[in-house]
Amino acid sequence: MTSPSARRRTEADAPSGDGWVLRSAGACQGVTGSAHRLRCGDTRVLIDAGMFQGRDAEAGANEAAWPFDPRTLDAVVLTHGHLDHVGRLPKLVADGFRGPVYATAATLAVAEVVLRDAARIQLEDAARERRRLKRAGGDPGAVRPLYREQDVDAALKRACAVDFGRRVEIGGDVAFRFGRAGHVLGAAWAALEGNGRTVLASGDLGDDDGPLHPPPAAPPRADVVLIESTYGDRRHRDAAATRAEFADVVRATLRRGGNVLIPTFALERTQAVLWALADLEREGVIPRRPVVLDAPMGARMTELYRSHPETLRPQLAARLAAGEDPFAPSSFETTTSFAASQRLAHARGVVIVAGAGMMTGGRILHHLRAHLGEPANALVVVGYQAEGTLGREIVEGAASVRVLGRRVPVAASVHTINGFSAHADAAALDRWLAAADPAAVVPVHGEATARAALGERAAERGYRVLDAALGADVAL
Ligand SMILES: [Zn+2]
Repeated sequence: MTSPSARRRTEADAPSGDGWVLRSAGACQGVTGSAHRLRCGDTRVLIDAGMFQGRDAEAGANEAAWPFDPRTLDAVVLTHGHLDHVGRLPKLVADGFRGPVYATAATLAVAEVVLRDAARIQLEDAARERRRLKRAGGDPGAVRPLYREQDVDAALKRACAVDFGRRVEIGGDVAFRFGRAGHVLGAAWAALEGNGRTVLASGDLGDDDGPLHPPPAAPPRADVVLIESTYGDRRHRDAAATRAEFADVVRATLRRGGNVLIPTFALERTQAVLWALADLEREGVIPRRPVVLDAPMGARMTELYRSHPETLRPQLAARLAAGEDPFAPSSFETTTSFAASQRLAHARGVVIVAGAGMMTGGRILHHLRAHLGEPANALVVVGYQAEGTLGREIVEGAASVRVLGRRVPVAASVHTINGFSAHADAAALDRWLAAADPAAVVPVHGEATARAALGERAAERGYRVLDAALGADVAL
């Protein structure tokens, strides 16, 4: 690895003394674009290199320069493989980062799938933008994708797999170790030590009763905690109630011969839904009917869940080791072609699990067009639907929607089932934070109200609450 020390003089860092200083490059005042640089003396570590999504992405946040010189970073530590935590890594490497990228083996496997998909989407978006500019008489030559497949290759070459609990020396006197975060396959929190202090970065934390992963591991005592606050102001329904509600809809729909459509995100939600279907069927709670996974990316991710049992709940890992597939109901099929996907337009009494989770694209659109107008069918929404998405329009009660150029009545029943979240709720975040019992807390990765709510409760416990702002130094 190239030592970046020779180039350090070029960076305009305020002197930090020997303490820790945080400088965020995303997800400090919103939910996406997670990237937090921590500096201890002369050692610089970037926790996550995520992509901005939604409004920030539209405003050009992903193309913007980093608030530090990527060449001066000693290492990148990735907490998990979601796009909003790894999506700018190829850009970071293209911009000069030359250090190691530490993550669990499962996270690296997930990140590879996510980043290759992101590169493909950016190429397509750039091509579309070039066509638009050409029509409008603009200069299409100026349009470039954020990065290409070869940038993904260059980023993945820097990957170093790290097991949970293993201590890794980064440089200077800074070291870190991962603990289980229970959020998605491979997800970890990272505890960094340097100058006699411990700084803990939560990454995204899972719920204590999530079906696929053990609950987040208790963190060590820490001086400062950067904690996600996605649901800092909300309580989740408990897992049993969610499961019962999900079972009721699936059973009633299949019994009347209808189809159940479940739009899902490829990572975690798809596997949680498949696991729930397989388990409910095994227990005789729902009838045995064909279940079709019509999501190429979801299928690849499910394969990773099968090949990385080390991050799953022990009973799931044991079933996999015994040759069982906990993600496959008895009549389970994964579509292997677009033609197979389209044949489902004539199916009756089947469960179709398909991307994209917010119905903004992907195979689910064909199924909505074919099945949403039929009252016997059910659309089961198990994920968050952002404003401005087709999914949001449907769950807010639209009588008809436009799908792939055709207006379709919403005659199928629509059910929103909220308990499938892969995130810790307010109570679980508070419990985890209490175990670290820090002197100071930096709420990140949350909307303003969620961050404020978590911060208020932290202040009541006597923790100092610090605010991070994009590009600004915060002494920890
Ligand atoms: Zn996440």
